[in-house]
Amino acid sequence: MLHFFMLFILFTSLFSAEVKQYRWANGESYLTFLENHKLPLKTLYYNLDKDDQFLTKEMISGVKYQILSSSDGEIEQLLLPINSKLQIHIYKKNDAYEFEAIPIKSITKKEALTLKITSSLNYSIVKETGSKKLARVLESAFKNSLNFKRDLRSGDKMVMLYEQSYRLGDKFAMPVLKAALIEMKGKKHHIYLNESDDNFYNERGSRVENFLLSAPVKGARISSYFTKRRYHPILKRWKAHLGVDYAARRGTPIHAAGDGKVIYASNAGSYGNLVKIRHSGSYETRYAHMKSFRKGIRRGKRVKKGQIIGYIGTTGRSTGPHLHFELRKNGRAINPLKVVKISSKKLYGKVRKKFLRMRKEYDKNMDYHLKRMTKYKRVPKLTRECYFNNI
Ligand SMILES: [Zn+2]
Repeated sequence: MLHFFMLFILFTSLFSAEVKQYRWANGESYLTFLENHKLPLKTLYYNLDKDDQFLTKEMISGVKYQILSSSDGEIEQLLLPINSKLQIHIYKKNDAYEFEAIPIKSITKKEALTLKITSSLNYSIVKETGSKKLARVLESAFKNSLNFKRDLRSGDKMVMLYEQSYRLGDKFAMPVLKAALIEMKGKKHHIYLNESDDNFYNERGSRVENFLLSAPVKGARISSYFTKRRYHPILKRWKAHLGVDYAARRGTPIHAAGDGKVIYASNAGSYGNLVKIRHSGSYETRYAHMKSFRKGIRRGKRVKKGQIIGYIGTTGRSTGPHLHFELRKNGRAINPLKVVKISSKKLYGKVRKKFLRMRKEYDKNMDYHLKRMTKYKRVPKLTRECYFNNI
């Protein structure tokens, strides 16, 4: 593959091939995209295996993608990011188009933001950084433990430590909040990301977020975890698993993970018998490969958390009885185990010790910024030469 990219740098300089960046339009599907660009639907969609076909459904509006065209306007290469880890690469080889899923190359920087709040938290952050995403991650991390609307005053202070990824010179994907401190009415409130389970805890090691959902299968073993990309050692290809698999005997009841409304209960090809439930807060859960639906479970039906909606099976593209469980927020697949109750709310033992050590480091860092009220540095645009060399 590397060899191939080297070739294109040469091309770029010799034949003045052009790389252009676009934004994925709202409502655009991968298939209409292929049609609009006169790309072959058969090789780039219908002949793909089911996993790759699934990936093409993950394109999200607003995502920046790149096209490398030859001087006569023909598409030579395409890069379509489908999540923060994986992208679709379409390229021409011997006059035919090829499809592959490959890792996204990005660089991650540790950044900090220190602020004296002048109006709402959201407004203050966006004004200083220009980033709505930073405001969103901070607000959502404190959502269940603090009431900013009621308690925040002008003059209060905050520090957040986070990691930001950059792809092809631009900010890319959501920033990952590592630790934050908010001083309200002279009192400091902290949260820290615990790396071992990806959840936020306070200074005492108690989880600050509420569990939104309960596990959909009682006492079942998790046979496959959520991942935005993994390398399949046998197929020698990159794949994603955008859900969690619970292995259980055929006929085991499946429960609604939260209160909501059934928006789909029917067969869906490789998903097999599929139920989709819409919950509040733009969350949606999906339950795939069911043997059958519970009587009365159909589109439009309201369900309660814990209510049985169907039974474990192996319909669709499945190798054995299991539930493929997905959680989506605003249409994007996220790790269900981040919001499903699986463990206690407090850290114990070794995990707690490790957490407290990490907390010390973060505290030192945040106190440093708070004392100096470090000015936020906007990162200058990084250069974007030789795109296809540096994906
Ligand atoms: Zn699965």
